[in-house]
Amino acid sequence: MIINNKRIAIVGGGPGGLTLARLLQLAGADVKVYERDAGKEVRVQGATLDLHEESGLEALRRAGLIDAFYANYRPHAGKLRVTDQNVDIKFDDHATEGLAENRPEIDRGPLRHILLDSLNDDTVVWNSHFISMDKSGEGWMLYFKNGSKAYADIVIAADGANSKIRPIITDIKPIYSGITIIEGNVYHAEQNAPHLNHLTDGGKVFAMGNGQSLILSGKGDGSLSFYTGCKVSENWIKESGIDFNNKQQVLQWFKHAFSSWSNVWQELFLSDDLWFIPRPQYHYPLNQHWEPIANLTMIGDAAHRMPPYAGEGVNMAMQDAMELATHLTSNEYATVKEAIAAYEKQMLERASAITKITLDSTAMMHGEDAVNKLLDMFKGTEQEYNRNEQA
Ligand SMILES: Cc1cc2nc3c(=O)[nH]c(=O)nc-3n(C[C@H](O)[C@H](O)[C@H](O)COP(=O)(O)OP(=O)(O)OC[C@H]3O[C@@H](n4cnc5c(N)ncnc54)[C@H](O)[C@@H]3O)c2cc1C
Repeated sequence: MIINNKRIAIVGGGPGGLTLARLLQLAGADVKVYERDAGKEVRVQGATLDLHEESGLEALRRAGLIDAFYANYRPHAGKLRVTDQNVDIKFDDHATEGLAENRPEIDRGPLRHILLDSLNDDTVVWNSHFISMDKSGEGWMLYFKNGSKAYADIVIAADGANSKIRPIITDIKPIYSGITIIEGNVYHAEQNAPHLNHLTDGGKVFAMGNGQSLILSGKGDGSLSFYTGCKVSENWIKESGIDFNNKQQVLQWFKHAFSSWSNVWQELFLSDDLWFIPRPQYHYPLNQHWEPIANLTMIGDAAHRMPPYAGEGVNMAMQDAMELATHLTSNEYATVKEAIAAYEKQMLERASAITKITLDSTAMMHGEDAVNKLLDMFKGTEQEYNRNEQA
C-alpha cells in the first residue's frame, strides 16, 4: 500500500475528517486528526443532517458504522412541513411514508460521537488549532496556536469552509451566492417557541415567501435549530452594524426584514436561551481545478463549500472521505501523488454537478412562487421514488 509507513495528518475533526480517519485506520494507516475544539464533549452546533444512500450512508457502511447510525438516528426527524410566510401548511408528510424514510436524519452530536468512538485511542489531538505549515524533508511540519507542532508525510485538509490549508493548494477564491443566512438555535423550544415547536413536531419546516426562506429543524435535545435566508449584499453583516450577540438588535432586524411574514415566526427571537451566527453563503467556481500536490489534498467544505439548500454538504464531505480512502489504500497507483490526482479529478467533477444543483435550488427557494416550485420538485422526486420502489 502506498501509504505504508507514512504518517497522515488530517486537520479538522468534522464529519469529513473523522470518516476519513476511520476508513484509513481500518486499512491499517497511521493517522492523527488535529482538531481545534477543546475536547470530545464540546457541544456540536447546527441542524439535523439527512444522510443520503449513495454518499453519507455508504461511507458509514464502509466504515462498519451503519448499525451504530441506525441505533442513534431520529426516525421522525425527516418529516417535513412546507409553509408559506403566513404559516399556511402547503405540504405535510407527517402523516405519510416515503421521502423522509429515504433520507434518515441524525443530529450532528451523535454522528460525531459514533465516528469518534470508532477511532483508536489518541487518534484525535484536541485543542490543536492549525495556523500554518512548512515543507519539512519529504513531508510537512504543522504548527498550532497552542505552540505545539507535528510532522506528517501526508496532510489532508478537512478544516471546513474557512480552511487555512486550502490557500496552500489553490488561490481560487469563493464566490458569494447572494444569500446570507442567520443561523440560530432556541433551547427548550417547547417553552421558548411553543407554536413553532409544535409546527416542527420534531421534524423540519421549510417556509418561503417574499424571496426569503426560513428553515426549522427539531433536535433530539429539545432545541429548535433554524436559519433565515435573505438576499443581501456580500458585506451586509458589517454594513448593517447589527451586533449578533445582542438579541434585541437581531429581533428588530427580523421584524423589519421579515415584515411581510406572520408574527408567529418572531417566537424564534424572543427567549434568552438562544444563539445566532450570521453566515454569508459562498461557493466555488463550477470549473475549479488545480495541479495535484504529491502529499497534500483536501476534502469536504474546504474543497467545495456551498449553500445548504440541497442538503448535500455533509454527504459530499463523507463521500470525499470514502473516495480518498479508496484511492490511498488501492494498489492501482505507484505514488501517493497519482492517488491524490485521481481522487481530486473524481471529487471535482462530482462537486461541480452538486454545486450546480445546489445553486439552482438556492435560486428557486429565494425566487418567485418558491413554495409551488418546491412542491412541483417534490412531486417529481416522489414519482421517481415510487418508480424505484416498484422496480
Ligand atoms: C446553517 C447550515 C445548515 C446546514 N445544513 C446542512 C444539511 O441539512 N445537510 C448537509 O448535508 N449539510 C448541511 N450543511 C453543510 C454541512 O454542515 C457541511 O457541508 C459539513 O459540515 C462539512 O463537513 P466538513 O467535515 O468538511 O467540515 P466541518 O463540518 O466544518 O468540520 C470542520 C472541522 O474542522 C475544525 N477546524 C476548523 N478550522 C480548524 C483549524 N484551523 N485547526 C483545526 N481544526 C479546525 C472545526 O472545528 C470542525 O470540527 C449546513 C451548513 C450550515 C451552515
